[in-house]
Amino acid sequence: MKATGETRTCHICGAQVVTWCPVCTANFVMLADTETISTEEKIQELEDWLGPLEIDFNLVHQRIEKLMGRSVWIHEMACPESLYAELRLGEESNDE
Ligand SMILES: [Zn+2]
Repeated sequence: MKATGETRTCHICGAQVVTWCPVCTANFVMLADTETISTEEKIQELEDWLGPLEIDFNLVHQRIEKLMGRSVWIHEMACPESLYAELRLGEESNDE
């Protein structure tokens, strides 16, 4: 059975979607406060957002800035490794 139009599977929640994922968009407003989650959780969440785009890019950008705690340039999202490294570094300096 094939639905009309091209569907794909959302890599975050697994829903069958055509354009933006309605499930992830609905979940977006209920995401955890970034102050209450650990660095590893932030990195995992960033990995989801920096994969294939599942919801409106402006929302993703907003959330990434919250996770990073600062303004993030779009070109920075092209090298997520440096964002992860920055979060890990921030965690180390908090331990002092
Ligand atoms: Zn989804």
